[in-house]
Amino acid sequence: MDKIRIHSILSNSKVNGPGERIVIWTQGCSKGCKGCFNPETWNPNKGKEYTTEQLYKLIEEMSEANTGITFTGGDPLEQSRALLDLLQKINSNLLPKLTHGIIVFTGFTMDEIQNSPDESMKECLPLIDLLIDGKYEEGLKNNHHLSGSENQNFHFNCINNRGETLIPRHLIEIDQEVEIHLDEQNDLIQITGFPRIDREFFRIKGLEIK
Ligand code: SF4
Repeated sequence: MDKIRIHSILSNSKVNGPGERIVIWTQGCSKGCKGCFNPETWNPNKGKEYTTEQLYKLIEEMSEANTGITFTGGDPLEQSRALLDLLQKINSNLLPKLTHGIIVFTGFTMDEIQNSPDESMKECLPLIDLLIDGKYEEGLKNNHHLSGSENQNFHFNCINNRGETLIPRHLIEIDQEVEIHLDEQNDLIQITGFPRIDREFFRIKGLEIK
């Protein structure tokens, strides 16, 4: 059974793609982008380990109250076998509920994915509605759509035009927003989206930025 390391999970997010979304931050990224929003997700040994079956069950429960799902990180494609298993399960069972589709952020470029010896990585592609690719380039930071920097590209799934049907382009070309979630169970305040703030300030105040 495949296992996957997860940094955190959120339900009902409105700033990580259209609709209300489940957001899964995977743990582990080797890209080391300067200015990364989420350096806590880099270490592949941190976070919490789930079997894909366990994580899928959680996603299935959350899909009752959400209209889409976003995988981000970390780099979800650095755990490509487990991601593939999850994407297959979601595609087979949950798309009628997740009508705003599946978004995956990755630090790999589309070219690197297509030329990778990792077959699982390539097999993920037709199961994703919108892939946002490439490392974060601090000097190319933008604030007017869903990607973090101008070098990153939107790759919509062309099969039956499913990508742009589920995730219309005008819904992702919007001003970036920030969301604050209070997690009383875990004594945590989460900030997600595209904060235009100094991370250190909030860290000193005991707030975690996702
Ligand atoms: S690919 Fe994403 S998570 Fe990884 S270092 Fe770059 S910005 Fe951070």
